Amino acid sequence: MSETTRNVQPVIANLGKESAGELVPSRYAVRVGDVDVVLISDGMLPLPTSTMSTNVNEADRNDWFDSRFLQRDMFDWALNIALVRSGDRLILIDSGVGDGFEYFTRAGRSVMRLESAGIDLAAITDIVITHMHMDHVGGLNVDGVKARLRPDVRIHVSAAEVEFWKAPDFSKTVMPETVPPALRKAAAKFVQLYGENIVPFHQTVQVATGVSARVTGGHTPGHSVVDIASNGEKLTFVGDAIFEVGFDNPEWQNGFEHEPEVAVDVRIALLNEAADTGALLAAAHIAFPSIGHIAKNGTGFRFVPVPWDY
Ligand SMILES: [Zn+2]
Repeated sequence: MSETTRNVQPVIANLGKESAGELVPSRYAVRVGDVDVVLISDGMLPLPTSTMSTNVNEADRNDWFDSRFLQRDMFDWALNIALVRSGDRLILIDSGVGDGFEYFTRAGRSVMRLESAGIDLAAITDIVITHMHMDHVGGLNVDGVKARLRPDVRIHVSAAEVEFWKAPDFSKTVMPETVPPALRKAAAKFVQLYGENIVPFHQTVQVATGVSARVTGGHTPGHSVVDIASNGEKLTFVGDAIFEVGFDNPEWQNGFEHEPEVAVDVRIALLNEAADTGALLAAAHIAFPSIGHIAKNGTGFRFVPVPWDY
């Protein structure tokens, strides 16, 4: 990426924060049968490329980033949340990174973008948290957000995830050193703020008609994905089970994975499932709007983005 391009991005991002209108699209809507799904960008997280493949050599990792015209040291990780309407239920899936992290100033926009989409936080009946990493619960931790949500909003998190964060194990993760303390703090704050709203589930939970969550484990022991199925159509929001590098290299372990071996199995199973069923897939960290089909491609897979419908 040229220096000119790199310098322009923060300027555009800042404009988005200051003004009512934004120069870049930040939400994208699709219909899955009778269910409305809106993908919303929380922003971008600059991260070291080394976190994307902790079990392969640097040359192979460089080759992949070169092939995508990306830098070899740092890259911008997309961060998406989703909003789902099924009947009279309005369901938020994840909440973005929130504020308070000086190295993530280009993300944390979910609440602003929900508002600019005309969504009143008080209209949200349910929240599904795929896992309790700060880029998924952080938006709910922002000062003032809880007061604007319904007091009885149901927050669906797997019981295994809640249990894990009581004494989280980072022994298999490979993260920048400032990250684990920030993750612990964000998860603890989330439980402290929303303990009474959390409805823990085992294996699966039906959140609304055509909307359910299921535990996969892997990324975190209680990591879950959300299935939206209606009138023969299906979209799965896979949270952090699949990353951009994972289509070509599903066996690449990620530094943010607490159970990296399990995470590889989960990733391959979800990719095979989507390829076999033809279901749409969306994810937290695939480039916005992150909606596409999965095709098998030799030993790996290929992400086929949906054509944008304006
Ligand atoms: Zn994440």
